[in-house]
Amino acid sequence: MGLTKTIWANPPEYLRMQQPEHPVLFFAPSVLQATARRFLDGFPGLVTYAVKANPDEMVIENLVAAGIRGFDVASPAEIEMIARIAPGAAMHYNNPVRSRAEIAVAVAHGVRSYSVDSRSELAKLAALVPIEGTEISVRFKLPVTGAAYDFGAKFGATPDLAADLLAEAARAGFIPSLTFHPGTQCTDPMAWDAYIRTAAGICERAGVRAERLNVGGGFPAHRAAAHAPQLESIFALIDRVATEAFGAQRPALVCEPGRGMVAEAFSLAARVKAIRDDSHVFLNDGVYGGLAEMPLIGAVDRIEALAPDGHPRACAPVGRVVFGPTCDSVDRLPGEIALPADLAEGDFILVHGMGAYTTVTNTRFNGFGDLQLATAMRLRA
Ligand SMILES: *Cc1c(COP(=O)(O)O)cnc(C)c1O
Repeated sequence: MGLTKTIWANPPEYLRMQQPEHPVLFFAPSVLQATARRFLDGFPGLVTYAVKANPDEMVIENLVAAGIRGFDVASPAEIEMIARIAPGAAMHYNNPVRSRAEIAVAVAHGVRSYSVDSRSELAKLAALVPIEGTEISVRFKLPVTGAAYDFGAKFGATPDLAADLLAEAARAGFIPSLTFHPGTQCTDPMAWDAYIRTAAGICERAGVRAERLNVGGGFPAHRAAAHAPQLESIFALIDRVATEAFGAQRPALVCEPGRGMVAEAFSLAARVKAIRDDSHVFLNDGVYGGLAEMPLIGAVDRIEALAPDGHPRACAPVGRVVFGPTCDSVDRLPGEIALPADLAEGDFILVHGMGAYTTVTNTRFNGFGDLQLATAMRLRA
């Protein structure tokens, strides 16, 4: 039995030596810690991480090592995992609908911050959680702008209802706060502008000074090669608009990135199973695996094609129809994907920026999707 190497220099090294027949997600802890520091240094408030984007324990451990001290949790399983791996970290239970049994788990773990978007859920919390020292963060929504899909379709009170809920929470003795989520992969910073100004209006209408304003997740990842997201300019806009909108009443700010924190720290490798009659490409991963988001929010075009020996394919790209491995016809990447003209059976494609919503949406439909995780020093050769 030989030694097992557990940290690889880069994905090509692993692919060349292992010749994997299953999809592989490569994780670079150094990239995750660098992104965490970018948020911690740049965001003008408390940085928390939305666990659902990628709950891998290595992700949580590396975020803690980088200095992240708060987590957005949405279920008892997430609460129990964070309590175990990051004891003492703040947990914000920002799924605004919870069963009584779920609330009991949160109380037992000392969760002191809950979002609400309805009177019924506020009343439920008032009956079940300690009032003193507990924050109620009223979640409000606006018609969506700029994001890849509309989170307001499920959660969020209208600004009118939010003002009532904020006043009600303050009257009941909770710490009153506000929260919103501009929608995931939000590439238009003006969404934050609109939400923050609306938040100030809600406080005015309620006659309540919000203790904190949580500006959500939604920070975009680098999906299109030509458009690197400018996190620092979004942070600067949030900072400026919060002061303009609230003046002396400015609440403390919180953010809860999922995608923007974790996407860049992972790259996904899939193998070319076949190229049918020189045209359609079949991969061993698809929309039921790590590529689930592509039909929903668009393909990632940061793709490298590697020969089995790990060297990049060098021909000019051509548009290809790309299918996943299952027998389902929706298992296809959207549109055509630009891949080098010399792509061949047995090659690998390496998709960058794949850390968010990939492991969690991976199914084993049709017996495919045996996604393996490998740790690498770097994700680029
Ligand atoms: C999913 C979610 C997030 C993270 O969203 P991203 O778009 O991945 O940043 C943050 N907050 C809440 C309440 C969420 O449900």
